[in-house]
Amino acid sequence: MYNINQIRQDFPILERKINNRNLIYFDNAATTQKPRVVIDSITQAYAMTNANVHRGVHTLSQEATNLHEGARQRIARFINAQTSDEIIFTRGTTESINLVATSFGNTFISEGDEILISTMEHHANIVPWQMLAERTQAKLKVIPLNDVGEINLEEYQNLLTDRTKIVAINHASNVLGTINPIKEMIQIAHCRNIPVLIDGAQAVAHCKVDVQELDADFYVFSGHKLYAPTGIGVLYGKKKWLEQIPPYMGGGEMISKVTFQNTTYNELPFKFEAGTPDYIGSQALAKAIDYISEIGLEQIANFEAELLNYASQRLLEEFPNATIFGQSEHKTAILSFTIGDIHPFDLGTLLDQLGIAIRTGHHCAEPLLNAFGYSSIARASFALYNTKEEIDTFFEALHRILKMF
Ligand code: PMP
Repeated sequence: MYNINQIRQDFPILERKINNRNLIYFDNAATTQKPRVVIDSITQAYAMTNANVHRGVHTLSQEATNLHEGARQRIARFINAQTSDEIIFTRGTTESINLVATSFGNTFISEGDEILISTMEHHANIVPWQMLAERTQAKLKVIPLNDVGEINLEEYQNLLTDRTKIVAINHASNVLGTINPIKEMIQIAHCRNIPVLIDGAQAVAHCKVDVQELDADFYVFSGHKLYAPTGIGVLYGKKKWLEQIPPYMGGGEMISKVTFQNTTYNELPFKFEAGTPDYIGSQALAKAIDYISEIGLEQIANFEAELLNYASQRLLEEFPNATIFGQSEHKTAILSFTIGDIHPFDLGTLLDQLGIAIRTGHHCAEPLLNAFGYSSIARASFALYNTKEEIDTFFEALHRILKMF
């Protein structure tokens, strides 16, 4: 039983008024709001167990270390990693992808090799590969999309060659909402022994992820899109890859022994975690994972799908000049749209006057928007605490705004 009233009470910010209206927060693909258990976990950690991890013999340091490493294990179980050594803490999706593009890229990719991404990638899954291609004279190739915003598996397969050294695609698109057939895509790449990185930023909070079942080589995500704080994220990597690639950053924690002549590196996962880690963020991320796991990812996915269907249907029925970007049958709860020639920025600003937060612009996916012939669109993205009543208010607001134009 999905208790939406209870869930809403768990999120203090939903009590806020914006421009004298109840906040309606439809910008969840950018970042999610935080439940009280996550906020409390941060306060509690600073109030009771704060000390730097790993190096201390004193009680507080040991407690902090146990909480931090316990969080790593919890996260490993959440995505079904084989061992918690495969969980590297980063600042988020962007840093995780940069780590792989640098450490894996510099090791395994050279002139004439190919990196395959898709048209629907976020800039975070484009630019690090472009930088790698520039460094190494490798070639970046791009999988096209069909009209509803999906990857055609045959076209994908045809783009793989003997020179392809990595495939990097998102699990779900932050603009189209499309959930990609990543299991099949990984299988196809593996037939040619090509590793695959999955950008899971838009997926982990909305569907169950099992990295072993997917057989993903790398799977990356950010805490802040998963009801956890900003500044903490995860790189999952298969041990066989993480062992073969060098550290990304140098400093404390990632070393085994240092002399001025030579340094040897620490074992996994610490080899990739230079400096003091965000041990408060890791605990809060584990709390967020506990929170959504208790509700159930399947329940969340079903609830959000209802919201998406309801909003999509209303948009098409009530605004004949509306366009929806991304009409795959397999979608997360993201509704990207335009209405006639109203500038999305105007729409976003006027909705804000009515207390409704949506996102407008290129959504850090300029090549994707260009492929559809646009430079800016509006996006409403839903989360586990949104309601049909909020969508009704959103549509009342849209009608009111449209009358003004
Ligand atoms: N990939 C996707 C699909 C995203 O939606 C985002 C965030 N909008 C990112 C990568 C980057 O995430 P972060 O800014 O948390 O590193």
